Amino acid sequence: MLLSRAVFIIYLCNMQLLDGKKVSEAILAEIAEEVSARKHSGKKTPHLAAILVGENPASQTYVASKVKTCEQIGFASTLLRLDQHTSEANLLDHIRTLNENPDVDGILVQLPLPAHISEDKVINAIDPAKDVDGFHPISLGRMVLGQPTFISATPNGIMMMLAHYGIETSGKHCVVIGRSNIVGTPMSILLSRNGNPGNCTVTLCHSKTKNLKELCLQADIIVAAIGRPNFVTADMVREGAVVIDVGINRIEDASKKSGFRLVGDVDFNAVAGKTAYITPVPGGVGKMTICALMRNTLLAAQDK
Ligand code: NAD
Repeated sequence: MLLSRAVFIIYLCNMQLLDGKKVSEAILAEIAEEVSARKHSGKKTPHLAAILVGENPASQTYVASKVKTCEQIGFASTLLRLDQHTSEANLLDHIRTLNENPDVDGILVQLPLPAHISEDKVINAIDPAKDVDGFHPISLGRMVLGQPTFISATPNGIMMMLAHYGIETSGKHCVVIGRSNIVGTPMSILLSRNGNPGNCTVTLCHSKTKNLKELCLQADIIVAAIGRPNFVTADMVREGAVVIDVGINRIEDASKKSGFRLVGDVDFNAVAGKTAYITPVPGGVGKMTICALMRNTLLAAQDK
C-alpha cells in the first residue's frame, strides 16, 4: 500500500498530525444535526451568501468549497459572481441588498478584491450581525474585549483544533509569524486571552522582525501565516514544538494535472520529525477555517 509522505513521516516518529479533515468532519456532522433539528422544529434554515469578484483561481476554489460545505450540512447558500471590473459602488449595493434581506444570515466577500476596490470599505459595509468572517471592526473590537462576537474563521478554526486535540497552551510561549488583520493579529490576541485554549505568552513576528530564528527556537507553539512556501525550516523549530501552518501556496508541479501543488509556509518534510504536533497542508488549517465559518453562520441564525 502506498503511504502518503505525511503519513510516512508520522510513522517514523512520535509526532501527531493535527488532522483538519477529520476534526472538521466531526464538527460539521454536529452542525448538520443541529440544522436538521432546527428544520424539524420549524426554525429557519441558516443561509450564507458569498460574493466572489473576478476570476482569481484560488478564490474560486475557496468559495466553491464553502458553498459545497453549505450543501453538505443543510445550509442554504447564495453565490454572487461579479465581474473583475465591477465597480466598488456596485459591490457595495449588493452588500446593502444582502444586509436588508432577512433570509440571509451570513455574508462573506471573498478576499482579495481587485485593486480598484477598497477592502476596508467593503468589510465596513457588511452588517456586523451578518459578519460571519469576523473581519468587521465591530467584530474585531468585541473579540479584543472578549465579548461574544463572530471570530475570524481561520484563527477560530485553529483554536477549535487546539481544543479538539487537548493541546496545553497555558503558560506556553507562542510565536505567531505574520500580522495580517485576518490571521496573524487576531490569532495573537486569541492565544494571549485568558481562556482555554489561551493564556499563552505571545510574540507577534512580521517582515521587520530581526531575530526571527532565535524567537522561533524559543517557541512552544509556532503559528506560521506568511504566504511564503516552506519559509519555516527545521533549524527554526525546537524539539517537541507544536507547529500550525496556515500558509496555502501554489507551486508549479508538472506532475499534477492542474500544473501546481499546494504547500504551506512550513517545510513539512524537514520540520515534522521535530514536532509534537503539526498541521499538514492541505488538510490542516484550511479545513478548520471552513468549519469555523459554518459555525459562525449557524450562530448568526441562532435566534431566528
Ligand atoms: P498577508 O500577506 O496579509 O500577511 C503576511 C504577513 O507575513 C505579513 O504580516 C508580513 O509582515 C509577514 N511576513 C512577510 N514576510 C515575512 C518575513 N520574511 N518574516 C516574517 N514575517 C513576514 O497574508 P495572510 O492573509 O495573513 O495569509 C498568510 C498565508 O496564509 C497565505 O499563504 C494565505 O494563503 C494563507 N491563508 C490560509 C488560510 C487558511 O484557511 N488556511 C486563511 C487565510 C490565509
